[in-house]
Amino acid sequence: MTPIARRALLVGLLAAAACGHRDPPWRLTSAQPGDVAIVGATVIPMDRDGVLRDHAVLVRGDRIVAVVATRALDARAATVIDGRGRWVTPGLADMHVHFWDRHDLDLFLLNGVTTVRNLFGSPTHLRWRAAVARGELAGPTIVTAGPIIDGDPPTWPGSAVVTTAAEATAAVQAQHAAGYDWIKVYGGLSVEAYRAALAEAARLHLPVAGHVPHAVGVAAAIASGQRSIEHLDGYVPFLGDAPRGDLVTPTVAAGVWNCPTLVVTDRFGRLDDPAQLADTRGLALVAPAVRAAWDPQRDFRLRTFTPAKFATVRAKNLQRQALVRALADAGAPLVLGTDTGNPYVVPGFAVVDELRLLVAAGLTPRQALRMATVAAGELLGTPGEVGVIAPGARADLLVLDADPLADVANVADPAIVVARGVAHPRAALLAAAALPAADADPFAAQPALPTEGAPIAAARYQVAMLDQVIGHERIAVRELGGQRIVHGQAVYGAPQALVMRYRATADQLDLTCDCVAPPHLAVTRTPTGVAATPDGRPAVALAAAADAVLAPQAVAEFVWYAAALADLPVGAARTLTAAEVMTDGEVALHPGRFQFTRGADVDGRRSYAIVGQHGELALTGHLRVAPDGLPHEVSVTVSFGTFTTRRLE
Ligand SMILES: [Zn+2]
Repeated sequence: MTPIARRALLVGLLAAAACGHRDPPWRLTSAQPGDVAIVGATVIPMDRDGVLRDHAVLVRGDRIVAVVATRALDARAATVIDGRGRWVTPGLADMHVHFWDRHDLDLFLLNGVTTVRNLFGSPTHLRWRAAVARGELAGPTIVTAGPIIDGDPPTWPGSAVVTTAAEATAAVQAQHAAGYDWIKVYGGLSVEAYRAALAEAARLHLPVAGHVPHAVGVAAAIASGQRSIEHLDGYVPFLGDAPRGDLVTPTVAAGVWNCPTLVVTDRFGRLDDPAQLADTRGLALVAPAVRAAWDPQRDFRLRTFTPAKFATVRAKNLQRQALVRALADAGAPLVLGTDTGNPYVVPGFAVVDELRLLVAAGLTPRQALRMATVAAGELLGTPGEVGVIAPGARADLLVLDADPLADVANVADPAIVVARGVAHPRAALLAAAALPAADADPFAAQPALPTEGAPIAAARYQVAMLDQVIGHERIAVRELGGQRIVHGQAVYGAPQALVMRYRATADQLDLTCDCVAPPHLAVTRTPTGVAATPDGRPAVALAAAADAVLAPQAVAEFVWYAAALADLPVGAARTLTAAEVMTDGEVALHPGRFQFTRGADVDGRRSYAIVGQHGELALTGHLRVAPDGLPHEVSVTVSFGTFTTRRLE
């Protein structure tokens, strides 16, 4: 041995002694500053059977970089989480969610849900997906389908309605161009539209999830290339008879995934007596407006249900459980989903409920946990990245105080949730998930309203649906060069979050809304009507009268109606038209036509009955106008409820 080599060996031995480890130094994994290390835990890696006792998981950025015996990690440079006496699992994945409120992201994280597949997407979801990926928004990693693709009439408003193969192809192309990750198909599609959608999705490498179109049937759907079938649709129809014959064997042969969502049909089976569901976990964190909408009397699917139908749902739930067990025994691909967004399927909390139902169906806790972790990575086409604890995987981890393989319910209430490498202790997650205080300022995060020109009047409003507050608006009317300007802000929470800001004159509307992509658009008059131009996109046009109100779907449009009706005598009627600027999904302009009939004043305020048409929607309601010319109250009733905008100050 040369002197130099001897000196090198000596330095190495001294370094090892200084570390206090008995392992040879060249086998140590060393943490770097900024790393997070969970040490001393029982790790359940899920990419293989068994557990790793007294192990450490090293996280760097948003990735897991090492999973080693605790003694083989030099964690001194890292932020250390003590895992002794604890279990570490991959973060959970809910592969069938619907959510429209940012608060739901907090509920997912609180429950350790670090990946969601959203199956009715909108531009808002694309924006949230990007914000989470950039680390600007705390929440699960979002994978999202576009709007549901359905036949005519669609089950859900907002669906992409297609009846021909060409329309189906175009709808898939549009969703691909918009950046959606999945295509969601639905029950009303024709055979030709369904086939065309699947063919185009395959060409564009977009996976397809969804229901089984009635016209197609489950046997054909299994063989079609549809990647996942939701709710065991077609296997066990919601109502009606199940198809005869063995479907398990062809399912395994085709490799088609099933996402059973047992929890949602469990809830439907009990909604004949919602009092039974009063102890549903997490209910206290659900916004009152959402809970009010869960009243079965307000659900178009349940309003007509008889006691016999509820009993049928319960009987079918037993068939679903038996089928899940049979599919699992046969090795069919199964993944966990909840269908949250439905009544009493609380975001995040419902994942634990689904895990329990899967175990009740006869799966082992490991099989159930597999569906919520490693299987999701396989379904999404990112095995090794999602749902496993292994080097290279995304750092989505749960630190649990009890063993989930002994009782799957032990995944509930994780002590620490690591999402994309960021560790969230339970106390912080609970604070984030708390509902806003009733007296919190809804405009706290908004800039002050602009102050151009001279002030005329200002007001704040509360918007209620089903008697629950869902949003707030504030406006300031000012005058500049003889022209009226309305500056306004609308902030909506549950059930559908959005923030909108606008500047409106009689002839120009500039609107910014986080509910549409791109978020800013300019609405102007044209020689033949109205045009809405989103930044960097072609204009959308509507033929309209020269005095049609540019209507931002906010209280500002009633400022213009109030002014246009000021000279109308009691007992007389006047029809006003509008270009309604639609910002849920793609930018669109819908014609509005409203007949206002002036009645006797109410509390010193002008009062008008409204009968009208807003796009396809018929509506009735009333408008009351305060002495300063601003709306005092606007109430509009459409088929799905009454919306009331009431002035506060
Ligand atoms: Zn769904």
